[in-house]
Amino acid sequence: MNADYDRLAALNKDHLWHPFTQMKDYTNSDPLIIERGEGVMLYDIQGRAYYDGFSSVWLNVHGHNVPELNQAITEQLGRVAHTTLLGMANVPAIELAEKLAAITPRQLNKVFYSDSGATGVEIAIKMAFQYWHNRGIRGKTTFITMNQAYHGDTIGAVSVGAIPLYHDVFRQMLFPSHIIPYPYAYRHACGETEALEATLTALSHLLQTRADEIAALIVEPIVQGASGIIVMPPGCLRQMAELCRKHGVLLIADEVATGFGRTGAMFACDLEAVSPDLMVIGKGLTGGYLPVAATLAIDEVYDAFYADYHEQKTFFHGHSYTGNPLGCAVALASLKLFEERSMIEGVRAKASFVERKLAALKDRPHVGEIRQQGMMIGIELVRDKESREPYDWAERIGVRTSLQARELGMLTRPLGNVIVFIPPLSSTEAELDAMTSILTESIISVTEDGRAS
Ligand code: PMP
Repeated sequence: MNADYDRLAALNKDHLWHPFTQMKDYTNSDPLIIERGEGVMLYDIQGRAYYDGFSSVWLNVHGHNVPELNQAITEQLGRVAHTTLLGMANVPAIELAEKLAAITPRQLNKVFYSDSGATGVEIAIKMAFQYWHNRGIRGKTTFITMNQAYHGDTIGAVSVGAIPLYHDVFRQMLFPSHIIPYPYAYRHACGETEALEATLTALSHLLQTRADEIAALIVEPIVQGASGIIVMPPGCLRQMAELCRKHGVLLIADEVATGFGRTGAMFACDLEAVSPDLMVIGKGLTGGYLPVAATLAIDEVYDAFYADYHEQKTFFHGHSYTGNPLGCAVALASLKLFEERSMIEGVRAKASFVERKLAALKDRPHVGEIRQQGMMIGIELVRDKESREPYDWAERIGVRTSLQARELGMLTRPLGNVIVFIPPLSSTEAELDAMTSILTESIISVTEDGRAS
């Protein structure tokens, strides 16, 4: 077993370039090499067990190695693994499109498949841009995004991204976007109402003065994820949607992270009965099993592309694996489990349980804020609770806390000073109990005892 670990660790070091990773750090540490998963547990090649406390980057829904999902893939594998959607269709892609149209907000009737959240966003941006072009309305060519937004890593998605650490280095090859403030009350040291007002005022001003230049607003609905799990004040999304409608600007909801039950509703937009013009889904769409994403469009958007060929209104975009039958089959099986297992009701109950379990953490001296929407939780650690002074980046408090959690048997990945807790939606109360205990112990030991430095 250990000889195998040594061999794989060496090969990993020699050949694998990991995403979002400073490889100098990484290659100087002992890599975690996962061999298998079962339910909410992942097992490394040395036989150690870990709770999957961040749902393998926020996408696992029903746990790992789920018989029903495995079976759906196996059955489809016996038919056909992949065929294109260029000029033809396949059974699971059709059935999934119908299902997605039924469960997403009203009027989102058309489904365009892709293979990652970023490509889904790329499609939404290009669709919004070409929508105005096809309607003969020129000049609506830019986008509004929110401060610290994250929409994926392809160039279009980065152009509507606003996290300087990730995005600034590419600035010269990006198209410019308008950035409005995100209502991050805790960091701006103001109340929720004030933060909400600042966002709405900026959006309103931009729309009043420049709506004729703007194709769409793109937003992570209700919870801004990668910036640190920041929950919008109630009513914010709805009022932003109303402003867009009033000024003739499309609304793109990026539900890649928030979709499929994560926030306590099937989609975060449902929490405020918002019906966007374009919606991007990914991650949990296949239960976290295979790389399928989709961009849903309202009929009005679709109709602007529906024309005689010579009118040149076709959407010239597609990927080799668009509408992959294996992925669509497992997505259908995952959605069946949502119904059979009353997942959404379950998430709400589990979210309350987690909230109660983490309540005591609020009093700890270095826990600044605990933010939670459903089963998306971010715990912001601060050096000084009174002044909200953040830990210096170089202290890597989040990384150290995550490493401590790993020592104690749970995996998670921090966002700067924010500890992320996004367990699989299938986690039982007993499992959530164990995970929140590890989380609590890790935070206390790193921030108060100075351990795990
Ligand atoms: N949008 C949001 C809101 C996300 O959180 C992410 C990924 N974390 C993406 C887009 C990009 O998705 P992917 O990593 O599948 O490209």
